[in-house]
Amino acid sequence: MQCHSAWLCSFLLICLFQLTGCGGSSQEIDGFYQAHTKDGVALGMRRYRPSSDHQYRAGRPVLLLPGIVNNINQFDVRSPLGKPYGYQLPADAPAWAQNDSTIAQDNIKFFSMAHYLYLRGYDVWMANFRGVGRDAYASESGHNNTNLDVWCLLDFPVAVEKVVQVTGKKPVIGGFSTGALCAYQYLQGATLNADIVQQGKYIPHVTASDALAWERNQKVAGFIGLDPAGSPKLAYHGIINSPLGWGLLTQNAKVDLDKVLPVALSLLPPVVLAGATDLLFKTISNLASAFPAFLPSWADLFGALNIWSTGNTNGYVEDFMVRHGLSSFYIKGLGQYAEWGINGEVREHWQNGVDCSDNFACRFLLNRLCVEAKRPLVSGAAIRMEGQVAVFDSRLSDSPCYRCLYDESGQEDLRCADNGVLAPVVGIIGSIQATEALKVLAGMGGVLAGRLLVMDAHYMDWRVMKLRKDPECPVCSHD
Ligand SMILES: [Zn+2]
Repeated sequence: MQCHSAWLCSFLLICLFQLTGCGGSSQEIDGFYQAHTKDGVALGMRRYRPSSDHQYRAGRPVLLLPGIVNNINQFDVRSPLGKPYGYQLPADAPAWAQNDSTIAQDNIKFFSMAHYLYLRGYDVWMANFRGVGRDAYASESGHNNTNLDVWCLLDFPVAVEKVVQVTGKKPVIGGFSTGALCAYQYLQGATLNADIVQQGKYIPHVTASDALAWERNQKVAGFIGLDPAGSPKLAYHGIINSPLGWGLLTQNAKVDLDKVLPVALSLLPPVVLAGATDLLFKTISNLASAFPAFLPSWADLFGALNIWSTGNTNGYVEDFMVRHGLSSFYIKGLGQYAEWGINGEVREHWQNGVDCSDNFACRFLLNRLCVEAKRPLVSGAAIRMEGQVAVFDSRLSDSPCYRCLYDESGQEDLRCADNGVLAPVVGIIGSIQATEALKVLAGMGGVLAGRLLVMDAHYMDWRVMKLRKDPECPVCSHD
């Protein structure tokens, strides 16, 4: 293709980009499973094996979920039926790839993560979020209230359940980008009320339960995240203040590339798209800087989305991704995703989230980590009208730790959420805690190391108690 001007080039590339969802299809349904969400949506899942001649692996299950605008195909790169890419294995390809008959039949399979894990004995599972997926493995779309929370908190858990149910084993969970993010939310014990979502009255009311986090963490063998989710650069590009940008991000619309142009990309020879995504975004960025008055600042969004950068990607893989990976595009989901990237936090409406300072399990864990890392722990607690502060400085050999003070068994959680707390008491205790933390950092003054400051606001009575190191303490005594 010859481009006589940047304008024309940009236009053609946009057209190419629009075509991307319309690639060839395969009707194979080998290893097809469905998981049903609490709000009644069927998710498409695939248990990987190279072909129906092969057995499913009996090893550790690995559940992978895709990034936000992709689907499970990205984990199993393969040529569309009857249209081999013609990719040649490099001469220095590893022995496992050169000696594998499946890769010999279609060299593009060299890039398949599913196949790689399969060869190593893992039982590979791939699942699509709702509204995502191609061909037989496509998930149902569900309702219009879908956003990132729905994916993470209604879709992800049932995919895990399905793998556990079929294999009877603890899976490793995770995935690429969004898949990894959702795995993380899952492990945090986050939940969402499916009834509210189903009624179409979706208001983000995400809650988190320590008990559920514990239960879920017991259920899985491990967590893997491929490629970070979100781009911190988004925060610096003025997108947050762009009405147009926010208008786009809050649209309740789905741009279904499969339906926009249902013409197969098979007309284009393989690898023609290699470099196209980079070129497209670079062109837009260049236009934005060359003609700042013409393009609004949000146009640089593309420059900020470094997840699109395919500069280091093999051209065949990029071609595959563009043709067969990008099959759905949820604007609403993208809105939540971008918001997370912009604000640097998973979400803004996190309610009753895991608060490590409000239960004994987290306090004991934090204490253990501080002792192991030889870091001082500035501990503060407040309940009803009482509060206490102490510093446990494990850098000092005679310093007690939190576990020396409290027995791990038989501690009933006294939570502010259940027992209440007089608001100013939290402020007083928090201020003292901050003062002690600053003193520890600056190495000044006599910190409350080995001492427990106790306040009874009822009588405004203050006491300081000396703490002794427990020689039997399972956490710090072995030092
Ligand atoms: Zn101790």
